Amino acid sequence: MSAPVPLPPLREVIKKHGLSANKALGQNFLFDMQLLDRIAAVPGDLEGQKVFEVGPGPGGLTRALLQAGARVTAVERDDRCLPALAELGEYFPDRLTVIDDDALKIDLASLFDAPFHILSNLPYNVGSALLIKWLSERDWPPQWQSLTLMFQREVADRIVAREGTEAYGRLSILAQWRCDARMAMTVHRSAFTPPPKVMSAIVHLVPKAQPEGVDPKVLADLTQAAFGQRRKMLRQSLKGMAGALDALESLGIDSSRRPETVSVDEFVAIARLLSPAP
Ligand code: SAM
Repeated sequence: MSAPVPLPPLREVIKKHGLSANKALGQNFLFDMQLLDRIAAVPGDLEGQKVFEVGPGPGGLTRALLQAGARVTAVERDDRCLPALAELGEYFPDRLTVIDDDALKIDLASLFDAPFHILSNLPYNVGSALLIKWLSERDWPPQWQSLTLMFQREVADRIVAREGTEAYGRLSILAQWRCDARMAMTVHRSAFTPPPKVMSAIVHLVPKAQPEGVDPKVLADLTQAAFGQRRKMLRQSLKGMAGALDALESLGIDSSRRPETVSVDEFVAIARLLSPAP
């Protein structure tokens, strides 16, 4: 890896551009470059790799990604951050593109024509919606090669949870049926400015082969019905879904079970029986 480019300290950048944190935009900034370098290292060597970053803000994670040799396309909704990001881009000619938009509206296929990684210290208010959007792509494997995402600890726990645990639910299944998902690191609330009320964690997801014959929409509806009434038995929560009770019976899944005891593979098997023939 080439020698790091000397950059002005992040706190100076914030001060120069008057970037006080805006709570409504989920702004909790990271300034610790060692921590940011560790986050940028989660997907592996990024030298020459393309990266999509959501919410660069003043550019802490962005500079770690650039120093790691990545070519970064970042989408930021807060116009106040754009001059600071433009200055950062000058240190790394042709390696940083900033889009002034809402990440929820971005069509990734129109931005990238080659594989890329997604990394973000996500704004908490849109984090789960973005994750579900990326996990729900029709074509699989997707063009992104990995997701490295900061969430509130409680959401991160749900993403990687196994059946039989309290955190296990819809998000666990939607993440794990098509990805290997792991907890990469926990991040103390004091690492952020301003510190949020809760702890955070980074999850790392890598796409795996999608089980055959399963319509993602059917799995999404099935898990919605099952976990929408988490305390109820499957025979209650799934009775409104055509064919679901028959599917349980033919798979030998006891309909008196509660959804948190049903494994990802079992949900996939039920969804397969309910999916329209290709
Ligand atoms: N990456 C910076 C860091 O690690 O210090 C900032 C992270 S901060 C938690 C989240 C960032 O996402 C903020 O800069 C915020 O303005 C931006 N943001 C919030 N909602 C957004 C959206 N819908 N689309 C794009 N960016 C958004």
